[in-house]
Amino acid sequence: MSKVRTRFAPSPTGFLHVGGLRTALYSYLFAKKNNGTFILRIEDTDQKRTVEGAVKNLIDTLNWAGLNFDEGPYIQSERLELYKKHAQQLINEGKAYYCFCSSEKLEASRQAQIAAKLPPAYDKHCRDLNPIESQKRVDAGEKFVIRMKVPLEGEISFTDIIRGEVTISCKNVDDQVLLKTDGFPTYHLAFVIDDHYMDITHIIRGEEWLSSAPKHIILFKYFGWEMPQMAHLPLLLNPDKSKLSKRQGDVAVEDYKAKGYLKEALINFVALLGWNPGSTKEIFTMEELIQEFSLERVGKSGSIFNVEKLNWFNQQHLRLKTDDQIIELIKPILIENFGDKFGDKFPTIISKNY
Ligand code: GLU
Ligand code: ZN
Repeated sequence: MSKVRTRFAPSPTGFLHVGGLRTALYSYLFAKKNNGTFILRIEDTDQKRTVEGAVKNLIDTLNWAGLNFDEGPYIQSERLELYKKHAQQLINEGKAYYCFCSSEKLEASRQAQIAAKLPPAYDKHCRDLNPIESQKRVDAGEKFVIRMKVPLEGEISFTDIIRGEVTISCKNVDDQVLLKTDGFPTYHLAFVIDDHYMDITHIIRGEEWLSSAPKHIILFKYFGWEMPQMAHLPLLLNPDKSKLSKRQGDVAVEDYKAKGYLKEALINFVALLGWNPGSTKEIFTMEELIQEFSLERVGKSGSIFNVEKLNWFNQQHLRLKTDDQIIELIKPILIENFGDKFGDKFPTIISKNY
């Protein structure tokens, strides 16, 4: 196997979701275990969702958790020319096409499909337009998006490290938009190009992307690039087995940090949400996780995010701390609330009197 390179590729939406922390952790552990490289890439191509200050916050939170990246952050919005060039290449090779449909037209067709109980998909209206005519319309300034031409027949099969053999018929794969009217790529185009140029060997990401994987495999093929291996992580669930949501508790890593949870506890807890060490051992340090982690031991079914269990991990990790370590942890909180009255004498004063 060539040198392992993994990436964590969040969209900067303002905070780090605990599911994102788990994805980042597994990518980090897998890279470290294999003496590989862990990369941070900011996927900010959806300008509507991008939040001011989110990137700094993300990096601070990852560093707090001990997930230090070796390369990056690479920022997708700084790489727009690269994506455009590749979309153009697909057009030139007949593997993608211009679509001029208005959002009203697309919405009407979507509603009609829903009414007919069909899965909503693009009706391929522009797929067979004459390419020369289309180019003229583009040159004349008409608005367009670029869509990929998915084969009409056949099926796509691949082996996911966690899920095994997956097969999806091309009929169920939509002619995905690759480049939007605003000139920004969609996730699908941007990450394929980036994973290729960043030499990513393993794509470790959430289960929500599994159904899009065939599109991605087709894109790698269209470009003639080697496909990284894929591992789709199981969902995180609320105790009632619904998809983990804010309504039933905190989902931001920053919330747990602010409440004073130990990073060691949060990491240990999140590591076991999906990964099974194959023994009864429950308490792991980051070093032990790196030694023992494997993607093959990640399960397929969703894992319940149970705060009581997190509280238990927090107790266990707190017990492992020495007095001096506890003082160091309490110090910033006392200073924040009462000011730095003790100056340099702080640690000794506290440790004598508690
Ligand atoms: N930006 C995507 C997300 O936040 C990344 C998915 C991936 O890792 O490829 O879900
Ligand atoms: Zn169209």
